Amino acid sequence: MKNLLALVALALMTQPALAEDAPKWSIAIHGGAGTLSRKDMTPEKQAEYEAMLQTALDAGAKVLAEGGEAMDAVKAAIVIMEDSPLFNAGKGAVFTWDGTNELDASIMDGRDRSAGAVAGVKTVRNPILLADTVRTDSEHVFLMGQGAESFAVEKGFAVTPPEYFATEARRRALERLKAEKLSALDVDHKFGTVGAVALDQQGNLAAGTSTGGMTGKRWGRVGDAPVIGAGTYADNRACAVSATGWGEYFIRVGVAHEICARLRMRGVMGTQDIADSVMAEVAELGGDGGVILVTPEGHAIFSFNTTGMYRGRATSEGLNEVAIFGGEAKASATPDH
Ligand code: ASP
Repeated sequence: MKNLLALVALALMTQPALAEDAPKWSIAIHGGAGTLSRKDMTPEKQAEYEAMLQTALDAGAKVLAEGGEAMDAVKAAIVIMEDSPLFNAGKGAVFTWDGTNELDASIMDGRDRSAGAVAGVKTVRNPILLADTVRTDSEHVFLMGQGAESFAVEKGFAVTPPEYFATEARRRALERLKAEKLSALDVDHKFGTVGAVALDQQGNLAAGTSTGGMTGKRWGRVGDAPVIGAGTYADNRACAVSATGWGEYFIRVGVAHEICARLRMRGVMGTQDIADSVMAEVAELGGDGGVILVTPEGHAIFSFNTTGMYRGRATSEGLNEVAIFGGEAKASATPDH
């Protein structure tokens, strides 16, 4: 009996106890990772990006601070970045080889692991909201192309003229790619995909990701952003993840689910180490990019193997920061176990 009590006591002691000052809510966002260096960025451009990240972060944080749901916080942050031409999602999406903008998005609710995703849509202003409607109003998880657009019309989404998404900078990137026979990585230098992950005061997690993909994509190419388990994953037992980077590698590693699975099964490894170890696998295969994640304990973490990632995070404990380059705001802000 004594032994049994000792065992129970030991088990309780080794539980990753929820610290009393653990954040009640937590959010992280990204606006893409890539080859970002201070010398290629004017102070004005940097300020513009930081202001837009801050606006998106604040919108999500407000939902959470007021007791709202993680799912709503994720959508609030992503819609702002989709509407901004600075990021490769919604307005400002990159061009396909054929000169169109094809949008991908996905969202997942950690409560019940319900998920929705769309790929290759051309007339929906906020693909993240359509992905969520696939989750709530259909019996499916993943809709593509024209079918997804018909579904959108049936569900009352306005048809947005395809020209709305086009920007001159992205068109020039496609022209350069073709003229100089470059790859998407040469012309973009960064992946401008957007994403958000959140923990709400009820202890629920959510994740979402939205993108235009990669410049010059053809043959209906789809990256990781709308693929549940690759670009997006949320599970209340483990974490919520959103990724950005060279999508093919993120699909092959199954990055978002892999991080959540390792967190669920973890021994002594810390959250940051687990995220870094999965990103190391992406690098080993030759891919690059980054992830954001939040855990049920409220850790808000970034991991990326590029020189920078547009990112931000905020918690109920007063943390609130946005950053672009490596070395800024990279470590876990909350005590890891
Ligand atoms: N992951 C996206 C894709 O491969 C690109 C990005 O992150 O910007 O489509």
